[in-house]
Amino acid sequence: MYLRDGKAPFDGMHEECGVFGVYSTETRDVAHTAYYGLYALQHRGQESCGIAVAYANKISYYKGMGLVPEVFANGNLETLSEGDIAIGHVRYSTTGASSLLNAQPIVFTGKCGKMALAHNGNLTNTKQLREELIRGDAVFQTSIDSEVMALLINKYSDGDIVKGVIEACRRFKGSFSLVVMTSDKLIAVRDPYGIRPLVLGKCLDDVFIASETCAIDAVGGNVVRDVQPSEVLVIDSEGIHSHFLEKAEKTASCIFEYVYFARPDSVIDGCSVYTARKEAGRILAKHYPIDADIVSGVPDSAVVAARGYSEISGIPYVEALAKNRYVGRTFIQPDQHMREDSVSVKMNALRANIRGKRLIIIDDSIVRGTTSRKIVKMLRDAGAKEVHMMICSPIVRHPCHLGIDMQSYSQLIGANRSVEEICAYIGADSLTYMTVEQLKETCRAAKLQFCTGCFDAGYPYPMDDYETDKHKFE
Ligand code: SF4
Repeated sequence: MYLRDGKAPFDGMHEECGVFGVYSTETRDVAHTAYYGLYALQHRGQESCGIAVAYANKISYYKGMGLVPEVFANGNLETLSEGDIAIGHVRYSTTGASSLLNAQPIVFTGKCGKMALAHNGNLTNTKQLREELIRGDAVFQTSIDSEVMALLINKYSDGDIVKGVIEACRRFKGSFSLVVMTSDKLIAVRDPYGIRPLVLGKCLDDVFIASETCAIDAVGGNVVRDVQPSEVLVIDSEGIHSHFLEKAEKTASCIFEYVYFARPDSVIDGCSVYTARKEAGRILAKHYPIDADIVSGVPDSAVVAARGYSEISGIPYVEALAKNRYVGRTFIQPDQHMREDSVSVKMNALRANIRGKRLIIIDDSIVRGTTSRKIVKMLRDAGAKEVHMMICSPIVRHPCHLGIDMQSYSQLIGANRSVEEICAYIGADSLTYMTVEQLKETCRAAKLQFCTGCFDAGYPYPMDDYETDKHKFE
């Protein structure tokens, strides 16, 4: 099947990034703390990672292409100095090429001395800010938003890093969960809409900032609270202080974090990701009953939902797909050819469980459709009598310009095809999506309102704000 631009669709979406920060008054080995924090956030980005450590008015750092344990193997972690403060980053490129030059944290020397910055999200006014900075004689080394952020923070800082961060963040549009480090401060910022998650944790006098609570748990910390939308948290020898950017008229946390991106053991804005996913299965069972012999989930993110469906419907939960634990998520490779080939390497059908059975298979989402098509074929080849695909989210009809790599309509099968056409393309006996309202219901415990832009164009602000026309139909 070919989409409106004549290209074959490809499947999967890429996560954005993960950030971690630690401010310690006790341990000097903050690099190891950051390492374990990043390890817990690996699911948010697998292309590159890095850690920067502040010590004695200096910053040491190490960045590399690959997974956290690969990059910091062979003594690389030990090359980092002891220190009081560290920030770290795992990256999947949503903007900028996948290269070491674009890996984070960004480390630079400015008006406040040595600084480092790591960013999760995507600015939508980067082009304008970049041009403004270039007119002011700035030069750029990378193509990523974070360098624009660093230069703008420096521009406004006048020796006061907190002022610089606040003034710069007032100029940013889009999504940003940021950690910034100087030799004596750790600063965390969450954009006014709260689009990407960011959480504060503590262990005795050590303070942690992380994209998800699972990273706070991994370093032995206690989750204190979410960083609030528009909050600028300053952590230094005086303690933890809050400042606020102008609040947005509403919040718009990314609902896809619950559907897919976040780890199930994380809690975002008061809502457990695991509970939200289980509830999604329950809601599907209540609203869309199907006469079938077994129900199963595509590992890992949809397994919980399948259990929820089973609970309500009484249809036995049976494992239909076995996952190769040693292969990363389908889409960790930025190369399209590798991505398509990796589905059958990643998982295989459990023939004995599904042969002759009418099967409901639940997945978190369909972006491009090719993975679903391969899964349905795999299940049929293994002897399933019927394959009914149910999706724990609505149809993805619109791109995301807020930090997820779904950046054009041509990539989205839901923007180009009806449900019936998608069902025919993936080869299922039936295909069911949930509605936006039902999806919101799964995360009703969350304290923020949601961005649902990729489903219903309910972005926090009009799409026209985006700097390029790359999201528009050709
Ligand atoms: S458009 Fe979709 S993926 Fe992007 S931030 Fe909004 S809900 Fe999340």
